[in-house]
Amino acid sequence: MAEDITYTYRPIKRQLIPKMTWKGFLIHGLIFLFLTALSQIGGFIWVFTMVLWSTIRYRSKFWIPFGKISTFLFFYLLISWTIVPAISGKVPLPKSTHKTLAPFNQITVILNRHYVQPEVYDALISASESFKSEYPKSKIFYLDASFPFTNWFPIPPHVTHGNGKKVDLAFYFLNEEGNYVKAEGPSAVGYGVMEGPLPGEFDQISACNRTLYSYPDFLVPDWKKDQYSLDVPRTKAMVESLIQEASIERFFLEQHLQDRLDVQDPRFRFQGCKSVRHDDHIHVDFK
Ligand SMILES: [Zn+2]
Repeated sequence: MAEDITYTYRPIKRQLIPKMTWKGFLIHGLIFLFLTALSQIGGFIWVFTMVLWSTIRYRSKFWIPFGKISTFLFFYLLISWTIVPAISGKVPLPKSTHKTLAPFNQITVILNRHYVQPEVYDALISASESFKSEYPKSKIFYLDASFPFTNWFPIPPHVTHGNGKKVDLAFYFLNEEGNYVKAEGPSAVGYGVMEGPLPGEFDQISACNRTLYSYPDFLVPDWKKDQYSLDVPRTKAMVESLIQEASIERFFLEQHLQDRLDVQDPRFRFQGCKSVRHDDHIHVDFK
């Protein structure tokens, strides 16, 4: 006798534009905005993934979310590693295997936030080589640079990083035993945990009536702050290697850290009271 067969797959019509409710449209719109703000190309690859999935004829409900996310990640990484560097007018900064210049956090590279103009790449390599001659076991660690496409697209939360001529660089830290720790510090992302003014140092934050912007604690908690202290000589050497580069137009580094590191250059500027604080990283603008 034939057994009853329960079909767990259901046929659907091929359709190029997925049918969507208003709620679905809103959710996918928010995902699009979020992924675009994070990685520039992520939102578009999400849309591509959704269109691709709407053409798949048979699908199990159980595997749909898993399948969509896997498809998105596959195409996101494939396109990021092959097509994007080939067609971007900018060049990606080196990956972590580079001897002198590397990302502070791998996420920066995965999110395509490490693109710069070719002359900026050359200047950073040159500065990092000169820094390495003084600290052979160290590299210069970069934070956010620019997205691969256009010169105007902001790279949230930065408003001015679009053109490939602006790069943030990480400070160096010592652990509780006083040893240098590579690409590590009180903030996992390199931003948001401030090296505020010590007693007796110039206090820009109070001078600005505390209007200087910093990341809220829920985004970057500072519970690891006590485990690290700023590696002053190493950070000073890194800043001095940058000062040698004539193609740099200006630096943003809070006055109390310029004083603490004892670095001087007419290109150190104040970013203004309504801007983000620069005592968690140094911002470099190229000509
Ligand atoms: Zn910056």
